[in-house]
Amino acid sequence: MRIDIITIFPEMFEGPFKHSIIKRAQLKGVVEINLINLRDYATDKHKRVDDYQYGGGSGMVMMVEPIANCIDDLKSKNEYDEIIYMSPDGELLNQKLSNHYSTLQSIMILCGHYKGIDERIREHYITKEISIGDYVLSGGELGAAVFTDSIVRLIPGVLNDETSALSDSFQDDLLSPPVYTRPYEFKGIKVPDILLSGNDKEINKWRTEKAVERTNERRPGLMDGSC
Ligand code: SAH
Repeated sequence: MRIDIITIFPEMFEGPFKHSIIKRAQLKGVVEINLINLRDYATDKHKRVDDYQYGGGSGMVMMVEPIANCIDDLKSKNEYDEIIYMSPDGELLNQKLSNHYSTLQSIMILCGHYKGIDERIREHYITKEISIGDYVLSGGELGAAVFTDSIVRLIPGVLNDETSALSDSFQDDLLSPPVYTRPYEFKGIKVPDILLSGNDKEINKWRTEKAVERTNERRPGLMDGSC
């Protein structure tokens, strides 16, 4: 899979993309992540990418030309399944969306800043808008990193034990059951004996029961699809 991210702060991705699973996925060649600096497409000598809002008011707006030039250039070199803008008023990200995006070949992600981007980019170039939650971030980079991480780990071949993604929360509209590791006893609290029984059938039954119990307690709407 190819993920091209347009940003004015490429350095912000160094932490999240250079460690752990997402780093391994790139080294394995399962995913190629390219960071494109929007300033390289600025049209003036100061590399300006933002300007004052028409109609007045506080906050700058990201200009149409640098973004349009950048997207046109990328589109002339590659095909994209979706051109995504990270935006608080986009579709709320969830595991179903991440599953869907993990099956695509190539996506472009645009990170906004300031008051956002000129509306004409959204109308003419963007095919999908995604929000990572009902709160406002300073820029799209953290959102793009969250979105990218959530899809890359689902691409076949990325996790060593692929079933571990399948048993994660949300994958089957259930939250995850509790998990334990050594020691067997900590401050008087023991690991449930069933997990030491070696009986896979009973262990799976227990895990499902616990997952249902937890989902009922914390996210009852998940099971009937109401939230
Ligand atoms: N004025 C806008 C917010 C702009 S925040 C509004 O009220 O809707 C600046 C940038 O941060 C946005 O362009 C977007 O790319 C990113 N951003 C902010 N909150 C986000 C969220 N919840 N999910 C995804 N991206 C977000």
